Amino acid sequence: LNRQLAALPTTIFTVMSELARQHGAINLGQGFPDTEGPHDIVQAAADALLDQRNQYAPLTGLPELRAAVAHSNARFQRIVVDPESEVVVTSGATEALAASLMALIEPGDEVVLIEPLYDTYLPMVRQLGGVPRIVRLEHPGWTLPRQALAEAFCARTKAILLNTPMNPTGKVFSPDELTFIAGLLKQHDAYAICDEVYEHLTFNTPHLSLMALPDMRERCLRIGSAGKSFSLTGWKVGYVTAPAPLAAVVAKAHQNLVFATPPNLQRAVAYGLNKDERYFAELSADLAHKRDLLSAGLRGVGLDVLPCQGSYFVMADITPLANGLDDMAFARLLTEQAGVTTIPASAFYEPSNGAPPTHLLRFAFCKQESVLQEAVNRIEAWH
Ligand code: PMP
Ligand code: GLN
Repeated sequence: LNRQLAALPTTIFTVMSELARQHGAINLGQGFPDTEGPHDIVQAAADALLDQRNQYAPLTGLPELRAAVAHSNARFQRIVVDPESEVVVTSGATEALAASLMALIEPGDEVVLIEPLYDTYLPMVRQLGGVPRIVRLEHPGWTLPRQALAEAFCARTKAILLNTPMNPTGKVFSPDELTFIAGLLKQHDAYAICDEVYEHLTFNTPHLSLMALPDMRERCLRIGSAGKSFSLTGWKVGYVTAPAPLAAVVAKAHQNLVFATPPNLQRAVAYGLNKDERYFAELSADLAHKRDLLSAGLRGVGLDVLPCQGSYFVMADITPLANGLDDMAFARLLTEQAGVTTIPASAFYEPSNGAPPTHLLRFAFCKQESVLQEAVNRIEAWH
């Protein structure tokens, strides 16, 4: 057995979703919308199924989807890419992350990670023999500690893994922060794996891709997810944009991991990516409204809700209600007694990097308004 993998605990998302199911709780834990994505995109996938789109797709993706990803890079970030050689379609951003890390990392290479971090990052880096160097954002405010970040880079640094808009904090990295990171990449001749699955889910704070900054075009692997951009998380269609020599190696990793992604879904995602500005504006406006609704409700019951500029998530400080319980214990109680499930934020920290904060819960607001309201009502009635 691979001891590292065998020792890996069940993901917190599965643990909390199962607990929600057992207790009939409203699930504001795992980040998935509780309504279907756009009907026309689903219809496009159904049509493609009946249109002889059921054998292996080309390894790097259907030409029409690669063209749509390239177009979307130009349209939203002014990044010009060659759809033939610089785009690889993957089975979800999760596979895109794995394939990108596989393309870059050799045993002993260091990877800079920013904490709190998405749960797959550390195990993936470690499986490849990479050495994580974790830099913790400062709370409150999720400030990037620039000195600590600079000190985390060294001659062995191969890459930084950067998630903006960020899960679980809702932070959108500013142009100034990105410029600082770009400077470090140049100084240390390193790459960036840019997890931008929430690229279209920002609220009044525009998303800027690191890849769009000067000299970053050749150093970045930029990852997107149809699951997030079209509220179809079960589809698991992702895409990597990278300079041709890097994309070719990502494709080799993809060849061995999955080989090809379902063609009907690819065709529908290509259709989705070509939607007009109004679609993307409505997607973020709808989520901004839900964020506001949930945040106001949680404040109303006495929680201290932190600002959120993007993603599916708000964080709340539970200190006023928790009676000294830590986030895990309080999250359990909230599920079992109030009937509302969340994710304890300590799950996004690596304990060996210092004691994690235990006073924060992550709430997903990508749910119907009535569901968000009911969740608030339940917490109110309980406490
Ligand atoms: N990165 C981040 C930051 C995420 O929150 C998620 C989960 N939604 C993923 C990657 C994985 O995306 P996908 O479902 O497309 O694999
Ligand atoms: N990205 C989702 C979240 O953060 C979870 C996806 C998963 O369960 N792997 O909630």
